Amino acid sequence: MGMWNDVEEKLTEAGQILFDAGQDIARQAKVFADNSRLNSQIADQQKALKNFYAEIGKKYYSEHAEDAGEEYKAYFEKVEACLSTIEDLKKKKSDGKPVVYCQACGAVNSESAVYCSHCGTKIIHVSESEPQDAEWEEVKDAQYRTCEPGDFAEQEETEAPGQDTQQQDV
Ligand SMILES: [Zn+2]
Repeated sequence: MGMWNDVEEKLTEAGQILFDAGQDIARQAKVFADNSRLNSQIADQQKALKNFYAEIGKKYYSEHAEDAGEEYKAYFEKVEACLSTIEDLKKKKSDGKPVVYCQACGAVNSESAVYCSHCGTKIIHVSESEPQDAEWEEVKDAQYRTCEPGDFAEQEETEAPGQDTQQQDV
């Protein structure tokens, strides 16, 4: 009987440990859930705050673009650099229609454009640059015409004896 009492006691102990562990896990899970909810609420407020700060900055920039205080000039320059980069990037965006890129400023123009809508430079279309290939072929033809079959034969005859005599000397 003593042995069974022992076993029963051990089982009760084990049960208590499991129960405590279970409660601990439940408590930790609740703490984790509470913290997650609080973190998400904090993040929402931080996002809102960032937007309010941005609104203040934008309002100040638009009202003081010409008379920025010395301590704001560096920020204003960064804003202007961003605005200018955004404009450049927007020019390069395609709306899906066939486009050509201005060779002078890189702006996107419709395929039928004759002059760049941004800088006014004449657009060079791909089809207009094709004559370059024809010119290249003409040059090659001209080179062939200057070479007579006899030229190569004479060169070989004059070079060959010279090489032979050099080899004999050595
Ligand atoms: Zn252009």
